[in-house]
Amino acid sequence: MQRFDPNQLAVRSGHFIHGRLVTGDADASRDVLRPSDGQAYAPLPMAEADLVDQAVDDAYVAWRDGDWARRPPRERARVLRRWADLVEADAPTLAPLEAVGSTRPVRDALAWDVPFTADGLRFFAEYADKLGGEVAATRSDNLGMTIAEPYGVIGAITPWNFPLVMASWKVGAALAAGNAVVLKPSELTPFSVLRLAELAVQAGLPAGLFNIVQGDGRVAGAALSRHPRIAKMTFTGSTSTGAAIMAACAQHGPKPVTLELGGKSPQLVFDDAPDVERLAGIIAGAIAGNAGQVCVAGSRLIVQQGIAPALVKAIARRFAAYRPGPTWEDGPTLPPIISRQQALRIDAIVQRAADAGATLRGGGPVDDVCGAGAYYLPTLIEGVDAGNPAVLEEIFGPVLTVQTFATEEEGLALASHPHYGLAAGVHTADLNRAMRAMRALSAGTVWINRYGRSNDFVIPTGGYHQSGIGKDLGRQAVEANQRLKSVLIDFGSPV
Ligand code: ADP
Repeated sequence: MQRFDPNQLAVRSGHFIHGRLVTGDADASRDVLRPSDGQAYAPLPMAEADLVDQAVDDAYVAWRDGDWARRPPRERARVLRRWADLVEADAPTLAPLEAVGSTRPVRDALAWDVPFTADGLRFFAEYADKLGGEVAATRSDNLGMTIAEPYGVIGAITPWNFPLVMASWKVGAALAAGNAVVLKPSELTPFSVLRLAELAVQAGLPAGLFNIVQGDGRVAGAALSRHPRIAKMTFTGSTSTGAAIMAACAQHGPKPVTLELGGKSPQLVFDDAPDVERLAGIIAGAIAGNAGQVCVAGSRLIVQQGIAPALVKAIARRFAAYRPGPTWEDGPTLPPIISRQQALRIDAIVQRAADAGATLRGGGPVDDVCGAGAYYLPTLIEGVDAGNPAVLEEIFGPVLTVQTFATEEEGLALASHPHYGLAAGVHTADLNRAMRAMRALSAGTVWINRYGRSNDFVIPTGGYHQSGIGKDLGRQAVEANQRLKSVLIDFGSPV
């Protein structure tokens, strides 16, 4: 099944505590809107601090008194693998659920989000028994060791752009390392993760190890961050919210944080980059995919003067071919913006860019695509300098700025951003130049002659500068969910 009728979809709502759905207070619920047509489709209970307390305490007791952290790691791995299999088999339910409430087209949810979620869980399962500790160099009648132990309860807060995938990165890593986790998903996309949690319980995850609280960031998210039983926080979202969470963790701990934050990632193209058409496809896809609502979106094209006219023309042609439409249809190639408010925000930055002297080429908001859904056509912005708002600010929409350069040095200077350093793309046929650029770019990820994540889960992801702290994915993500205990044993004298 691909295309579906959103009005026929059964959506279950609630928090998820101790292995089951908890309905919550109907009076304190809020309608959640379908981004594709702006219609309310299910009420969401909004947790206050007392419910967050309950969810965290329940997770803590389940973790402390249960055997999840103590059981052989391969047994934890078996549960996670079983969970991954159930997720994959559940695609006919999960994909429409993801599509109806988010900006993910059902076609993409089936082909990518659901299998990627399952494979991510498998990846973390494989690490469950791979990371131990070290033996230290000590005197020969001593044995010094570091041993890795789980923290206890990890708090996770996720954004709305890839609800299932983002949850799986946080929850999979935390559980594989022997922790319990309490997740607060975005209040804009809260339902698909409930199904994920139900499947975890079906796979054999003990009740309480994965709890979900629904609610506002500033209420439920803040209560989670400052909860004394939360030993570590992991977050993906905006830089300002990441800073608020980090401040809460400093004041109510201190406790460590993993933060994957905003970006304004450059795509640096040199004249010798081969195959303009292929390149245009990569660059257009890197900013128009999910309508630009991707933290690593390649939002700044920095292109050498020789190739610029042909490349920009080819990108403009591709931009013009995008067809907006709801996530439950097969035909559209451009999904909605998550909310009307977000679409207005995108347009406000674009208008400020124009006021500052930029030239807009195509694109802009379209209103009559599907009900009250907000759509924004891919937009090229030329004639910008480094101080233009569209070059400086994270837009989180399908808006690409174009800046040209003559020399490698100029290109690298334009590619650097005063605050962000999440990802960067380099396109050139010259290996040495690619390596020089890779070293020079101050970003957590550099893609060369490609752009965007692959399914190489072993490659960690995370930013430099204001784009974040720590890594999701990779060995490092599992390690970040463990703390190290140092042990020294003296066996030199008779006891
Ligand atoms: P956006 O991605 O829309 O810019 P945010 O970064 O603010 O949004 O939101 C990402 C996640 O952070 C959401 O789950 C949101 O509810 C949560 N959140 C927002 N504000 C806070 C806060 N002060 N403390 C904790 N979580 C928050």
